[in-house]
Amino acid sequence: MIDLSDNTNLWGMCPAAERAIRELPIADWSRYPSWNGARLGEAAARYVGVTGAAIVGCGSDEMLDAVMRAMTAPGDRIAYSTPTFSMVPVYARANRLEAVPVPLGDNFDLDADRLVSAGAALLYVCAPNNPTGTAVSRSALEYVLEHTAGTVLLDEAYAEFAASTNIDLVARYERLVVTRTLSKAFGLAGLRAGYAVGNETLLNVIGRNRGPYMLNVAAEAAAVAALSDAGVVWMRSHAVLAQRARDQLIVDLRSLGLSPVPSDANFVFAPLAHAWLVAERMRRGGVVVRAFENLPLTIPAFAASEGRGLRIGVGPAEQMAHCIDALAAALAERGDEDGPCA
Ligand SMILES: *Cc1c(COP(=O)(O)O)cnc(C)c1O
Repeated sequence: MIDLSDNTNLWGMCPAAERAIRELPIADWSRYPSWNGARLGEAAARYVGVTGAAIVGCGSDEMLDAVMRAMTAPGDRIAYSTPTFSMVPVYARANRLEAVPVPLGDNFDLDADRLVSAGAALLYVCAPNNPTGTAVSRSALEYVLEHTAGTVLLDEAYAEFAASTNIDLVARYERLVVTRTLSKAFGLAGLRAGYAVGNETLLNVIGRNRGPYMLNVAAEAAAVAALSDAGVVWMRSHAVLAQRARDQLIVDLRSLGLSPVPSDANFVFAPLAHAWLVAERMRRGGVVVRAFENLPLTIPAFAASEGRGLRIGVGPAEQMAHCIDALAAALAERGDEDGPCA
């Protein structure tokens, strides 16, 4: 099976991280890791170019949950664009928050006005956005930061594949926290390492609302090595491969008659009314992609596809060739009209 469904690094992990895990003394496994993963916190801050240290956790998923817990009280609102990262409503519910989904606006950018007027204690922004892959404009983000009274949580899980980042805004806005991950561009999804940067006072509040030892010894060793000079060189060269594969995938999807939306990430979203049927047929052809439904019909591209579409991750050329073959075969099969679409 070729799995293009989770946006991980299909080229693998960087050699420096692999070496760090192999060289980890076995004796370390029977002891606790460092209290708060400070070594990674410092390496991460240096890597993204902010002063101070990042706080680190068991993947950025855990950071999202930690930010919600620390910055809200049960019953508060959390506003976010929709569609967005599927775990956000899950953590919102776990933290007893009232979710206020706001459909993406023109050109898949934030509907900044509606996000702000939700009166939320916390605003979640994903840029590039999962599952659309689309960018968020700096001006819309700044508008939100200027006008909301709440905390803004910016999820930059795919920043390494994007044309630009907004992480520098943490120096200007005290209520902004930005999360990043080692799971995507650095290829360490199975090890679980993520981090958050922002104003020191804000990070301290988040840190006080969670336990210690969120980062295990192997994850810390691998993540620190991944952020070393050699690790970052490896990551950058593979992020370029992912960008090229993404741009080629967009061309190939168009030649199959689809209309993929622009992507700043390592995956591409293609609106498609028969997404579920096509994904099932592709699975039978050995390729796993993710189908979505119930996308907001206020977005013209989604109105045309009855609110459904496919998200396809990118990887090495051979895998992409299989993917395109499986997709072409799935689209060519007859009987779409009668098939189950959802
Ligand atoms: C994959 C992903 C993450 C990363 O999750 P980890 O817990 O760090 O593996 C975070 N946010 C978004 C939007 C993602 O797609």
